Amino acid sequence: MANFSRRALLVGGAAALGAIAANRFRGHLPTQDGTTNLSTPMDGSILNDASELNPTPIFKHTRIETDLGNATVDAVRAEIKAAQNEGRAFNIGAARHSMGGQAIPRDGRAVTFNNGTVELDKANGLYKVHAGARWSEVIKTLDPAGFSPKVMQSNNDFGVAATFSVNAHGWPAPLGPMGATVREVEMVLPSGDLVTASRSQNADLFRHAMGGYGLIGAITSLTVEMAKNKRLTPTFEEFDAKEFGTEFTDALADPAVNMAYGRLNVDRANFFEQALLITYRDAEDQTDLPPAAGSGATSHIASRLYRSQLGNERMKRFRWWVESEVGPMMGGDATRNSLINEPVVTLDDRNPERVDILHEYFVSPDRFPEFLEICRRVIPASFQEFLNVTLRFVDRDPDSILAYAPVPRIAAVMSFSQELTQRGEADMARMTRNLVDGIIGIGGAYYLPYRQHPTVEQFRRCYSGAAGFADFKRSIDPERTFRNNLWDQYIGKV
Ligand SMILES: Cc1cc2nc3c(=O)[nH]c(=O)nc-3n(C[C@H](O)[C@H](O)[C@H](O)COP(=O)(O)OP(=O)(O)OC[C@H]3O[C@@H](n4cnc5c(N)ncnc54)[C@H](O)[C@@H]3O)c2cc1C
Repeated sequence: MANFSRRALLVGGAAALGAIAANRFRGHLPTQDGTTNLSTPMDGSILNDASELNPTPIFKHTRIETDLGNATVDAVRAEIKAAQNEGRAFNIGAARHSMGGQAIPRDGRAVTFNNGTVELDKANGLYKVHAGARWSEVIKTLDPAGFSPKVMQSNNDFGVAATFSVNAHGWPAPLGPMGATVREVEMVLPSGDLVTASRSQNADLFRHAMGGYGLIGAITSLTVEMAKNKRLTPTFEEFDAKEFGTEFTDALADPAVNMAYGRLNVDRANFFEQALLITYRDAEDQTDLPPAAGSGATSHIASRLYRSQLGNERMKRFRWWVESEVGPMMGGDATRNSLINEPVVTLDDRNPERVDILHEYFVSPDRFPEFLEICRRVIPASFQEFLNVTLRFVDRDPDSILAYAPVPRIAAVMSFSQELTQRGEADMARMTRNLVDGIIGIGGAYYLPYRQHPTVEQFRRCYSGAAGFADFKRSIDPERTFRNNLWDQYIGKV
């Protein structure tokens, strides 16, 4: 019963991700006449990402599956050197779930880090991890020892260095982005030098590489803080969406709360009118913690419910009823590791005409009512199907040069279903720019790993550190060898 509840409440995340994963393998591309084509698979000549909307020619694709030893460093150095000799771009990726070519070097040498080892340092509450390790591997090592990742995304498929490189956030609270939990990284610079970077050693490199989208160095390992794994008990509260910023801030002032997220209703008639806040505190019984669970059959049922919302307002209202009325009645305890050990479920929406696309916006809690107004004005006026929004808290990020949370912010993770046509793409671009304009107007920011629809000017206004970042990058990489679409389309232009 408890397991069903947990899965049901996480359905938005899991199902959204599942659909994205399914799309990834399906490989549909919009064409001029609005029909769909199959894209070329990820085989070395064309690289794509989770959106399947970025097929990009590359020169060579190398997969590296190694450990914390010198072999990884040597292999990476060789690729960088070769790219420099050829005058090509170089870039490393991991799970390739970014959606705007952020891990793709056009006509260049792409490296994919697969898997990796994890070494525990229990005495210091740390672990050292190979850059390409996925969070599922980290949890597998930490869980039997009674530990848990301190901050990671809501799913376990992503690479650890990639998480640092986008400075991702999760829903452990009240913490900052994942970079806040990283003590040091080892990386190969464009010069070929292997350096250690931390807040006290090569601090400039550390701050630029955190959220630096692979443009500063090729990270080979990281030393990261871990938390204790715990059994947690959820609490559910429903209120007017306008109250969410205040309610969330008040809830997180309770030091007993260590995981938290929110939801808003998404049916068009009552769009973003109601909010649900789910907070987790330590359960009384901390004995005999079960091993971290994976996805079960109920996850698939919940995913079906999520998917059935497409074009169906009644199902959107029904899902909200399940989340807000049924979920609290069935709420049960779960361990921290079980809550975050959720894979990107491969649930195909069986709709070759559409693709799931994520957006994410960061706003201060006190501007949340204005954020709601912006969304109500812009989103229902588009042709996009809005399926889900999850709300998280991200504490101030004092480190990263490209920080999206220079002050504490609420993160709104949105999932859309987009028609795979030129008009669907044009509508998505128009809607995104309108949303970003509104968000900038209330001092917020948009997240960089998704579709690259905002304008360069919008990027510049959201990320005040961008010009300084670009100068620093040019100083350590004069030939601009470390490049991807984020550099080509935005950072290299500021
Ligand atoms: C379904 C889904 C769910 C998501 N959920 C969340 C969430 O809960 N919270 C959140 O904050 N974000 C979330 N995201 C965004 C996600 O965190 C980023 O897309 C992240 O980059 C994905 O990791 P990846 O392994 O796929 O990275 P990739 O796309 O492979 O790479 C991302 C970036 O990291 C760089 N990089 C990768 N490895 C290295 C390395 N070794 N050295 C230097 N640079 C490197 C790449 O060059 C690239 O710029 C989600 C995305 C999707 C698609």
